[in-house]
Amino acid sequence: LVDADGTMRPTVFAEMSALAATTGAINLGQGFPDEDGPREVLEAAREAIARGENQYPPGRGTADLLAAVAEHQERFYGLAVDPAREVLITAGATEALAATLLALLDGPDDEVVVFEPFYDAYAAVVALTGARLVPVPLRWPAFQPDLDDLRRAVSDRTRVILVNDPHNPTGAVFTAEVRDEVVRLAEHHDAVIVTDEVYEHLVFDAAHVPIAGLPGARERTLTISSAGKTFSTTGWKIGWVSGPARLIEAVLAVKQFLTYVNGSPFQPAIATGLRLPDTFFAEIATALRAKRDLLGAGLVAAGFDVSPPAGSYFTVADAAPLGADDAGDFCRELPRRAGVVAIPLTAFVSPEHRGDYRTLVRFAACKRVDVLEDAATRLAAAF
Ligand code: PMP
Ligand code: GLN
Repeated sequence: LVDADGTMRPTVFAEMSALAATTGAINLGQGFPDEDGPREVLEAAREAIARGENQYPPGRGTADLLAAVAEHQERFYGLAVDPAREVLITAGATEALAATLLALLDGPDDEVVVFEPFYDAYAAVVALTGARLVPVPLRWPAFQPDLDDLRRAVSDRTRVILVNDPHNPTGAVFTAEVRDEVVRLAEHHDAVIVTDEVYEHLVFDAAHVPIAGLPGARERTLTISSAGKTFSTTGWKIGWVSGPARLIEAVLAVKQFLTYVNGSPFQPAIATGLRLPDTFFAEIATALRAKRDLLGAGLVAAGFDVSPPAGSYFTVADAAPLGADDAGDFCRELPRRAGVVAIPLTAFVSPEHRGDYRTLVRFAACKRVDVLEDAATRLAAAF
C-alpha cells in the first residue's frame, strides 16, 4: 500500500483517469458510466434533501432501504432475508468488503482464497488484516477456474472464500460447477463465503445466480452488492451486505467505526431504485450487452484478440497480436498513440503472477454509444 520511502501508491484507477484527463483521451479505464441513471432515483434523492433527511440515519441503514434490499433478494432470487437482522447498508461495496474482511480475519494464520485476477481492493484490505491471500488463477480466454486448482487452494486454514461473480476485471460469470464446488469446499472446511455481486444486474446470457441461494450456502455466506453499477450512481457510495444475523452483527461491529452511517438522502433514493419494475433491470442489461458487442467488434477490428464477457462493465483483450509484450507499457502509451485509456490486467494480479497476464488489457464498455464508436475509430486508425 505504501512504498519503502513512505509514499502512498495511488490506485491504478486514479492513475489512469488522471492520464485520461491530462491527455484528453477517451477513458475506457476506470469503470463508471458517463450518463445518469434512472430519473426516479435522482429525483428521490432531491426530494429527500428537500424533506430535510440530511442528518445521521440509523447505523444499519434506514428501515425503508433495509426493507427494499430484502424485497430485492426475495423478488430476484427467492431469498428470504430479515431486513432488521440480516442486512447492513454500507459506503459502497468497498466498505462492505473492508468491514467484512476485517471482521472475519485475524492475522497470518488465516487464509483467504480468491480468484486471480481480482479487484484491487481485495489484496489491499486482506493486507490490512494481516491474513494470507491464496490465489486461484483464472486463465485466458474463458477465465473459469480449474476445479483442481480450487480444491488445492482451500484447506482448514481457509477462513474466507472470496468470490466476485460477475467478475471484474475479466467479465466472467462462473459456471454452476464452480459455484457448487465453492459451497462444498466451504462446508467441508468450515469457511465463510463472501460474494461480491456488484454486477448482479449486468449479465448478458442467463439470470444471475447468487451463491447464497445454493443448498448449504445460506448459513455461511455474506452477499455484498452496491447501487453504483445498477443505478449508475457510483459516486453515491451506497452498498449493502446481507447474510446470517450472527455474521452481519460482526460486520456491523467493524462498520460502526469505519463510517458509522452512510448518506441519508441517498438511501430513500436507492430504495426507490430497487423497487423499479422488472423492465428497468432487463433494459440495463440489454443496453450494456449492445455496448459490449460494439466495443468487442471495435477491438477485433483494431487487431486485438477478445474474450467476450458474460457480464460486468468490462472486456479483456489480448494486445499480443499488436506486438505488445507488456500491458503496463502498452496502456501508458495508448493515450498518446490512440487517444484511448485502458487498464493493464497486471494491476489486478499479485506480483509473482504478472507474467501470466503480461499482454492483457481491460476496456470498460459502460460509456455512451457515440463514445465507444469514437474509441473504436481511434483504435482502428492507430493500429
Ligand atoms: N467490487 C467490484 C468487483 C467492483 O468492480 C467495484 C467497483 N466498481 C467495487 C467492488 C466497489 O464498489 P463501490 O463503488 O460500491 O464501493
Ligand atoms: N470498480 C471500478 C473499476 O474497476 C472503479 C474502481 C475505482 O475507481 N476504485 O474500474
